[in-house]
Amino acid sequence: MRILDGKKTAEQVRQEIKKEVATWVDKGNRPPHLAAVLVGDNGASQTYVNAKIKDCEEVGFKSSLIKLSDTITEKELLEKIDELNSDESLDGYIVQLPLPKHINEKKITQAISPTKDVDGFHPENLGKMVLNLPTFLPATPYGIMQLLEYYSIDTSGKNCVVVGRSNIVGTPVSILMSRNNDPGNATVTLAHSRTQNLEALIKTADILIVALGKPDFIKGDMVKEGAVIIDVGITRVTDSSRKKGYRVAGDVHFESVKKKASFITPVPGGVGPMTRVSLLKNTLLACKRKA
Ligand code: NDP
Repeated sequence: MRILDGKKTAEQVRQEIKKEVATWVDKGNRPPHLAAVLVGDNGASQTYVNAKIKDCEEVGFKSSLIKLSDTITEKELLEKIDELNSDESLDGYIVQLPLPKHINEKKITQAISPTKDVDGFHPENLGKMVLNLPTFLPATPYGIMQLLEYYSIDTSGKNCVVVGRSNIVGTPVSILMSRNNDPGNATVTLAHSRTQNLEALIKTADILIVALGKPDFIKGDMVKEGAVIIDVGITRVTDSSRKKGYRVAGDVHFESVKKKASFITPVPGGVGPMTRVSLLKNTLLACKRKA
């Protein structure tokens, strides 16, 4: 069994980006600029956004954090988005999800200019992804593809089962895995809460990608011998033995599944860091496209 080390791989990608930014700036260009919009004070969202800002600093990007109160109306947020769309000094931005209940996330996602949509959630960018055209790939699926590529995992012709069909992870990764690309070219089944005989299906997977949000859902006896396991899940589980009072759990029961897997991502340190670095890659791309 080998660990798919997202932390190490992401660090390497970050160093490559850092070098590219230095060369870019040496040529007289301004550094890439990413903004993050944070609405309200959701603890996990704040942690994610802070990490994104820190990543920007590390690679030499400019970053802006736009903190808005959770009492902001949908109209006011849309006005802010208009402002960001026309801000020439900005290459890309993200609106951290989830948003407060009174704001329609779909409306907000669709208002972001596709040229600045470095999260890759805009329908235009998702459409381009489906058609295999150049675009901003959603960060988590993009991170997973980079990890598979980094470890030279052979995906062509393999049975890939994706569990979870969200718009940000399961659905896009199932499309990327089935495209005529490398990595890709897998035979993909997308499973969800209505899937029948899920366990039997999971047993057929040469590559299993799990994005459910249910800690330790996948156990060792459920997976095929030699399978490649990608665990996307991140759930905070109460743990009084930890200083923070919680631990972060994946959707895969690591200890039992690692005995069967050929490759496996740990949580933390697997898909998470790759997601973060993918946002940087998209921002650099947005900046270069703009120039
Ligand atoms: P969502 O909550 O949006 O979707 C969960 C999916 O799992 C749904 O499609 C749901 O099916 C399916 N599901 C739920 N229960 C079952 C079940 N018993 N059997 C089969 N399918 C089931 O999830 P997200 O994709 O947003 O997130 C998934 C996990 O990944 C979360 O833990 C999240 O924190 C984490 N995450 C991690 C990231 C990273 O960078 N590592 C990035 C993004 C998310 P249905 O559609 O039928 O309801």
